[in-house]
Amino acid sequence: MIIIKTPEEIEILREGGKHLAFVLSKVKEIVKSGISTWELDKYAEKLIREMGDEPAFLNYRPAGAKIPFPAVLCVSVNDEVVHGIPNRKRILKEGDIVSLDLGLKHKGLFTDMAITAPVGKISAVNQKLLEITERALQIGISAAQAGGTVGDIGYAVESFVRAQKNKNKNTQYGIVEVLSGHGVGRAIHEDPYIPNFGKAGKGEKLVSGMVIALEPMLNNGAKNVTIDDDGYTIRTVDGQNSAHFEHTILITESEAEVLTKE
Ligand code: MG
Repeated sequence: MIIIKTPEEIEILREGGKHLAFVLSKVKEIVKSGISTWELDKYAEKLIREMGDEPAFLNYRPAGAKIPFPAVLCVSVNDEVVHGIPNRKRILKEGDIVSLDLGLKHKGLFTDMAITAPVGKISAVNQKLLEITERALQIGISAAQAGGTVGDIGYAVESFVRAQKNKNKNTQYGIVEVLSGHGVGRAIHEDPYIPNFGKAGKGEKLVSGMVIALEPMLNNGAKNVTIDDDGYTIRTVDGQNSAHFEHTILITESEAEVLTKE
């Protein structure tokens, strides 16, 4: 069931989104060679709790998972696409790219956001991957408007990515298809599913007051992904790097409002 948020809920989600964007920007600032993914997680948790909010992913148990997620922040390095578990022994090194995905509960309501950050100087191919994935998110946001459909978003993202692939022959920009954006607000994952591919005009109607998280995941190589034995870490099958950007947005009669911004 798709939940339309009340004006009061939207105001809380706006506040929460602001907090979340602040926390992620602070975590991004300490991303550097030599830091562990565990330290990034602990820092995110400290900042969230200082603001009186709660981490949304800690102990969250997605359908089918054997154990609840054991951390606050999903930290996914290089060929890890999403849901990487922070670890004291996982040390970032120059040239890595690292996806930071964070959910926050503010006054009982959830927002969700992700960025992929470079560790020091990264290769031109990885730089391009980050730029294109972030732009794919912006394109998706631009396509998300009341009166449109979920398929319009997927179609816009997919068309943009296909055009980039034609311009950059040495990359495939595989769109990860087994994971998608989603409704968010009263729960961290609500209806509808929002794939990063699709047909214009198809799928659920977008209505003013819907709050959704859009999150394209693009691979330098093929779209295929696999899951590690830890039950969480999703990584590319071909070992090529992957990037991920996400915003929580509010559907309106005109341009969508990005809630996860400072
Ligand atoms: Mg999400």
